[in-house]
Amino acid sequence: IAEESKSTTCSPSFASIALLQKMDKTVGILGGGQLGRMLAASASLLNIDVVILDVGDYTPAKQIVVPRKPETAHINGSFADPAKIRELASKVDVLTVEIEHVDAAVLEEIEKNLPLGVHPSPSTIRIIQDKFIQKEHLKNHGSPVSAFFPVEPTVSSIKQAAEKLGFPLMLKSRTLAYDGRGNFVIREESKIEEALSVLKDRPLYAEKWVPFVKEIAVMVVRSTSGEVSSYPAVETVHKDNICHLVFAPLRSRDPSVANHARQVAEAAVKTFKGAGIFGVEMFLLADGSIYLNEIAPRPHNSGHYTIEACETSQYENHLRAILSLPLGSTALKVPSAAMLNILGASSNIDEITQFSREALSIPGASIHLYGKADCRKGRKMGHITIVAQSDAELRTKLRPLLEKIPGGSS
Ligand code: ATP
Ligand code: MG
Ligand code: MG
Repeated sequence: IAEESKSTTCSPSFASIALLQKMDKTVGILGGGQLGRMLAASASLLNIDVVILDVGDYTPAKQIVVPRKPETAHINGSFADPAKIRELASKVDVLTVEIEHVDAAVLEEIEKNLPLGVHPSPSTIRIIQDKFIQKEHLKNHGSPVSAFFPVEPTVSSIKQAAEKLGFPLMLKSRTLAYDGRGNFVIREESKIEEALSVLKDRPLYAEKWVPFVKEIAVMVVRSTSGEVSSYPAVETVHKDNICHLVFAPLRSRDPSVANHARQVAEAAVKTFKGAGIFGVEMFLLADGSIYLNEIAPRPHNSGHYTIEACETSQYENHLRAILSLPLGSTALKVPSAAMLNILGASSNIDEITQFSREALSIPGASIHLYGKADCRKGRKMGHITIVAQSDAELRTKLRPLLEKIPGGSS
């Protein structure tokens, strides 16, 4: 072996040893919810250690990772606490996030001390976590976004925005937004005060209403060298502002729409620094044009389907990207797939258990439960992915689930 190792050409066995050594890294994750859980599950298949920072010892992600050595024990604390973030950084080779609402300044400070840095780049997180700055960034880099306007939290300022953008007007919180919490649709001038009372004390901006026919999404993975690769475009269906269903691939009368969506998503992700997976949410209009809604710099609900339906899942490709390993194929390996979120309908967790049991009898359905102890209305408790050989077969398998889903499907 010693003789061989002197050779300048690398034999396949040596290449794979080099790869294994590279994979022998420790990844720190800010946040231990369901995205961290699925990321950790993916990491375990590649012998990649993960250390999770979140409040509590039994969060969804921590439940599934028993540390392989004392040095990689999880950390109990807030992912918004600078001291805890520094402690996490001292234990890992690279830091990543399952949520963008983190302290970008602390990440900027520690990124140079980490062997493989922080991914996505803290500068990317800083831009994306303020939706107004994100929109300006996208507009300045030529991404198609609908008109938007900065506003002050006053009736007169919002009136001024409405004069430019019209009604209905989408009033959005610039920060800490998720699942539509932070959005208010103002349908007429008389509702401005109500919008302000709901979004009080939050920094705001206004967006022109987009009369979309479909919401679509594309996952894009970006390597440390800036190379990007996109997954197929999918259709996302929201219920009460929360992702309800995803259909892959996107079906549309004009088949060029899907490729156009991928191009828009890839071009947008290229404008950001750092490696990893990004979820790009878009609106499709009746004339086939596309507007970019927002970008998540992390694994995304619209990419859960990739676990069963694509050659490499969004989670594995995120790990490959941040560890500078070769990116995996993003191709679909089934003709048709759907993802159904299992959302809490009430505080009764038995409804979730019962529904999941029934889903087990659907062939081709994969049930993912997130291990959350408490159920609440609208809380993401799990999801189901269905793969099928045709759209017709997919609908047949999906129908009984939609009929029985807690809270109903409409
Ligand atoms: P997420 O959980 O995806 O992060 P969020 O709280 O950041 O959600 P948005 O994605 O901005 O919220 O908006 C939530 C939903 O509201 C969108 O998926 C879309 O259905 C609708 N929406 C957002 N902006 C507009 C708009 N300008 N015009 C019409 N509908 C919109
Ligand atoms: Mg968002
Ligand atoms: Mg969104």
